[in-house]
Amino acid sequence: MKEGVHPKYVPARVTCACGNTFVTRATVPEIRVEICSNCHPFFTGRQKIVDTAGRVERFRQRYAGHEKRQAARGGQRRGRS
Ligand SMILES: [Zn+2]
Repeated sequence: MKEGVHPKYVPARVTCACGNTFVTRATVPEIRVEICSNCHPFFTGRQKIVDTAGRVERFRQRYAGHEKRQAARGGQRRGRS
């Protein structure tokens, strides 16, 4: 390898938000991730909503308001009738 152009390739501890940690090699000694092979739905087979930005909660709040408005109008369907 050419001297001076390659970054240090060191053991790196990867820490996932689920609590799982494992060691690999990288150019930085510590990596934090939100999802890993231990908790990703593809590997667990379980459905899991990854909602770090609160988008699911915001959608639920908006939809709850929508249902109330529908009820107030006597449960009318949207669109032409
Ligand atoms: Zn994980």
